[in-house]
Amino acid sequence: MKRGNPVWVWTEQRNNRLMDVGVELLGKGLELSERLNVKLETILIGNQTRKLADELMAYGADTVYMIEDPRLQTYQSDVYANVLADLIKEHSPEILLIGATNIGMDLAPRVAAKVETGLTAHCVDLYIDEDNGIPYLAQVVPGWGGNLMVKIVCPEKRPQMATVRPGVLEKPARNESRKGEIVKVTPDIKDGDFKVKTIEMVEEKAVGIPIEEADTVVAGGWGLFSAGGFKPVEELAEVLGAAVGGTRPAVDKEWISDDQMIGQSGKTINPKLFISVGASGAMHFTTGFLRSKVIMAIDQNPDAPIFKVSDIGLVGDLREILPYLIEELKKVV
Ligand SMILES: Cc1cc2nc3c(=O)[nH]c(=O)nc-3n(C[C@H](O)[C@H](O)[C@H](O)COP(=O)(O)OP(=O)(O)OC[C@H]3O[C@@H](n4cnc5c(N)ncnc54)[C@H](O)[C@@H]3O)c2cc1C
Repeated sequence: MKRGNPVWVWTEQRNNRLMDVGVELLGKGLELSERLNVKLETILIGNQTRKLADELMAYGADTVYMIEDPRLQTYQSDVYANVLADLIKEHSPEILLIGATNIGMDLAPRVAAKVETGLTAHCVDLYIDEDNGIPYLAQVVPGWGGNLMVKIVCPEKRPQMATVRPGVLEKPARNESRKGEIVKVTPDIKDGDFKVKTIEMVEEKAVGIPIEEADTVVAGGWGLFSAGGFKPVEELAEVLGAAVGGTRPAVDKEWISDDQMIGQSGKTINPKLFISVGASGAMHFTTGFLRSKVIMAIDQNPDAPIFKVSDIGLVGDLREILPYLIEELKKVV
């Protein structure tokens, strides 16, 4: 029998489609709840979401709290946070996991503040550890300049809250025969509770191949400054039919958009071939592509940490290596 306070996952829907990250979190939630021998429960806010509740149960949810209201079809900051915080106060979950989409990143801190607990953003791993026989959630993030993995704990307050970026965790297997319970919740929402109203969500069209879908990704870092900008990376990507990504300094320099940033606060990708150019290899960056099949790195510093995670390393000046590589590839691709 499962006892103790449950593990919760907030499962985001948009236009009545589940976001992948919620499903990915269910896989982790299942692992944590089995370890604690407690139920895995999900919170689903929207309208006419019954089909989605069935999907969540197939992915491992023992209980789906279904909050339905036509006014909640689209994400509403204040009201979603109020609904979730009220449910937490009523049911006292031990752990709450939220996918760090743009919406999840808006929701999680609001909820944490309302229920007065801690929140660890952009975790790259989560597991149950013990202190004097008392289990707790270990929340792992890169820290200290990205050179160390740090374990964050929330010893006193509950729930222990963490966000995880899409793509960091793997999706669990779907099992249609799994059964769960749907609990319909009808919160008392007044029109005046919508201090800010989201009227419509418009999806931005991706330019080029989105990095999370590409087989090959070429990513550039601050080292491109020496080459006067990102052009050589774009040229290499073009020859290879690859998508272009980069590090945070590349975004700060406006060589690439936010959408192309790879790493703990950016995207997690796992292409067949990942080429890093002029990036030192801080863990904040490398956590975003470690599951790539083949990793190749170009950097002038032979001691750069990027070479520790690379299958192929080219040590040298990118201003010499890239033009040569591009010319040679043009002959064969
Ligand atoms: C909470 C937090 C979250 C973060 N999240 C992210 C994230 O998601 N993604 C991310 O990328 N960063 C993130 N960062 C920043 C991260 O810690 C690093 O600062 C960043 O990744 C470094 O980028 P870089 O490798 O491009 O630059 P640098 O570390 O400056 O590396 C530049 C590299 O270029 C090489 N180089 C220079 N000139 C040449 C040349 N001519 N030829 C060849 N090589 C050359 C250098 O040897 C060096 O290795 C985060 C930081 C924090 C605190």
